[in-house]
Amino acid sequence: MARYLITSAIPYINGIKHLGNLVGSQLPADLYARYMRARGHEVMFICATDEHGTPAELAAAKAGQPVAEYCAEMHTVQARIADGFRLSFDHFGRSSSAQNHALTQHFAAKLDDNGLIEEVTEKQIYSRADGRFLPDRYIEGTCPNCGYERARGDQCENCTKQLDPTDLINPRSAISGSTDLEVRETKHLYLRQSALREKLDTWIDAKTDWPVLTTSIAKKWLHDGDGLRDRGITRDLDWGVPVRRGDKDWPGMEGKVFYVWFDAPIEYIAATQEWADANGKTDADWQRWWRTDLGAQDVTYVQFMGKDNVPFHTLSFPATIMGSGEPWKLVDYIKSFNFLNYDGGQFSTSQGRGVFMDQALSILPADYWRWWLLSHAPESSDSEFTWENFQVSVNKDLADVLGNFVSRVTKFCRSKFGEKVPNGGEYGPAEAALIARLQTSLIQYEGHMDRMEVRKAASELRAIWVAGNEYLQSAEPWAVFKTDPGRAAAIIRLSLNLIRLYAVLSEPFIPDAARTLLDAMHSDDDSWPEDIKSALTALPAGHEFSVPDVLFRKITDQERLDWQARFAGVRG
Ligand SMILES: [Zn+2]
Repeated sequence: MARYLITSAIPYINGIKHLGNLVGSQLPADLYARYMRARGHEVMFICATDEHGTPAELAAAKAGQPVAEYCAEMHTVQARIADGFRLSFDHFGRSSSAQNHALTQHFAAKLDDNGLIEEVTEKQIYSRADGRFLPDRYIEGTCPNCGYERARGDQCENCTKQLDPTDLINPRSAISGSTDLEVRETKHLYLRQSALREKLDTWIDAKTDWPVLTTSIAKKWLHDGDGLRDRGITRDLDWGVPVRRGDKDWPGMEGKVFYVWFDAPIEYIAATQEWADANGKTDADWQRWWRTDLGAQDVTYVQFMGKDNVPFHTLSFPATIMGSGEPWKLVDYIKSFNFLNYDGGQFSTSQGRGVFMDQALSILPADYWRWWLLSHAPESSDSEFTWENFQVSVNKDLADVLGNFVSRVTKFCRSKFGEKVPNGGEYGPAEAALIARLQTSLIQYEGHMDRMEVRKAASELRAIWVAGNEYLQSAEPWAVFKTDPGRAAAIIRLSLNLIRLYAVLSEPFIPDAARTLLDAMHSDDDSWPEDIKSALTALPAGHEFSVPDVLFRKITDQERLDWQARFAGVRG
């Protein structure tokens, strides 16, 4: 038994995420966590909401709520939806937790002890009407390069030129529209990432098992232009982790908070502490996952994220950890994803284009979405959700292949032998061939799951379902029964055992259906098969079962057309 620490990139607090967000980190992370648990390993699976920063403040203001209240409410909403998708987090934390406050302040103090924090006085735009400093992207004005009138202070989206807010002509607050702006001096803490460049470089060079896509992104940031830049870790905001030096004041930094990019990844650690605190565990219980001096030296740490998050997890967060000089666990493997597009375009949160997580669950159960999303995960390139493809995939893979097998076997048995595993007959060459085929597939399937090859794993699982169907089709128990009932009994005995095995192997992808199948087989034996042959003897002759309800229903053409129209844009 090994130990796996698994984290999913933490979703931002404002609003409900769409299916593209789900398949970009949380869902494949859940697949891997479930698989590793099924293999008997010890797993700690962590996610959280990312709650600080200006977008949360603005969303709260728009909702007419205090920001803390807004975040608490949205966290509950996101947690409920995650539960609906059966995301099996050991803990779904909050970056605004007391634990994350303390840990973020602790890391800042350690970094400062090690000479990696610098105080920088800079000029920033202050809005008198809004009573606050404005982050770069909340200042709008005319682009000096192309004349576009709604350029943002960090970049002109029309000509893509990188800008400083002071470059803008006629600058105004994007929050209030006020032009009553002035440049004020303010002091901020900077993390001297440049001082950690060599250390990071050496560390990344050692990651020979990482995909080139991942290491090349990191290398580009390390070496292009001036190389890795020092970066501000504080902000003039009210909402966030107050800037303190561990548990002491930080003179000159009163009223400031840590920048959200700094505190968010520390929440992976803090959320594990939240888990310990919420479950009556000790500090040692969470530290053995994170401190290599306190038990984490044999932990394998895997992170799941979208490709846009890679620089951050290969450089910024490791810089914080390495710079602390303390023996915190660094990531061992990063599994990153491309983007999922929606029906000929992109998902759009602002335009309400595409299917959002709450809407998805309101029209079909989680397993339908889990299966489609995972079997079409955007791994080697971007992939696209279309309703046609979704309909075909659900109807064929889930209803025709898996569902139909279960239905035919259980109903035939009930009508000819009753609701118990039939006795009699012998296994012959057809069964030996099936077992050999499934044994080969099982090894393939395990290999893909071990390597986090999500689509390949889905395709092998489908092949395992297909093998059962093809066996049943050629063994023809319904025809054989007329002349040789014993032989038909042997075929059905094996097939009922196959249903239990399908439940075990399919659980990481479709956990609810797996539960239904195990319940129908009146079995609580969900142990991963050592080998196929012995796994197919788990249910002996005479063992009772029930015929389950329809496992997966088909999506009709009318439903497909209705949903296509309903999710085309502008969320109501
Ligand atoms: Zn421009």
